[in-house]
Amino acid sequence: MTGGAGFIGSHLVDQLVDAGHDVIVLDNFSTGRRSNLSHSLRQPNIQLVKADIRKIPRSLVKRLRRVDRVCHLAAVTSVQQSIKDPVTTTEVNVVGTLNVLEAAKALKAERVVFASSAAVYGTPRAFPISEAASISPISPYGVSKAASELYLGSFEANHGIETVSLRYFNVYGPRQTPSQYAGVISKFARRALQQKALEIYGNGLQTRDFVYVSDVVDATAAALKKNLRDRVFNIASGTETTILELAKTIERIAGSRSELKFCPPQTGDIARSVADTTKARNEMGSIARTPLDVGLSATTKWLAEADRARRADRHTGTRKPQEKTGG
Ligand code: NAD
Repeated sequence: MTGGAGFIGSHLVDQLVDAGHDVIVLDNFSTGRRSNLSHSLRQPNIQLVKADIRKIPRSLVKRLRRVDRVCHLAAVTSVQQSIKDPVTTTEVNVVGTLNVLEAAKALKAERVVFASSAAVYGTPRAFPISEAASISPISPYGVSKAASELYLGSFEANHGIETVSLRYFNVYGPRQTPSQYAGVISKFARRALQQKALEIYGNGLQTRDFVYVSDVVDATAAALKKNLRDRVFNIASGTETTILELAKTIERIAGSRSELKFCPPQTGDIARSVADTTKARNEMGSIARTPLDVGLSATTKWLAEADRARRADRHTGTRKPQEKTGG
């Protein structure tokens, strides 16, 4: 698995390792952390390799010889970062994906499951967004995911490797660290816990489809295991939530009286997002089971504990402050 030390990847590693699978994690720790894998690293069936998908060492591929399945999650994950530096995003997300596909071929993998994104749809016109909607990404990040999906199709056609692209919508949960580029939920939750203002871009009536990380992990594990007819699936909750509603729910859960601060809309911010999840439900049996307030409570609790631990470590000087920048 690439990107296994990151937010989503580390939860997936935990599930696969606990189920008894032998898992090799490749990560360059640009945004991922070794500490995310502290549970799995205690087990005998995990191997952690520090490497960059822009240059996967040949010696590593030779040494591994064979793997059954490849799950590819490593990426530059920030839309804003991709707008600032599209070249690096393309190097990591497109060339990196090609390198992973080449390695999968050399390792005789039967299937590659790829973490794509709702960003491939750009500004959708019809709701809920189905997999049949046109692909017209706006950000270099969305373009990189769309290009990767096409390369997966090309490898399937030319080399017989099964490929599955999972278009994740807005994933949230523990281990998603708040940062300038992180998802809105971790940012709101931390600011609410700190009683700081929650910044809402525009009027807050824009909607998103938030899906809890364990539901995404279950869907991804199903895509690794099951024989699927289709190759592209939306992974989402199928529920539409406004940013304003989200902010108020987080405030309630965090017991916060933070002010809601309305800021000018961000460029490229789409008005609506909600997925049609029929295909994932029918073919993969993938159902988002976690209600938003349950997922938000778990996320807020984790953040509060992580912040407490960081303050304690800083106080005793036992740990370097570390903050990842993706999300
Ligand atoms: P994350 O930043 O926590 O995880 C990405 C992981 O990839 C990190 O561990 C990072 O160190 C690693 N990585 C980055 N560049 C690398 C490189 N060049 N070589 C090796 N490893 C590298 O992000 P995440 O939220 O867990 O996202 C996982 C995947 O899901 C990404 O492909 C992302 O685009 C996709 N996705 C995420 C969301 C979301 O809401 N979080 C939504 C849609 C798609």
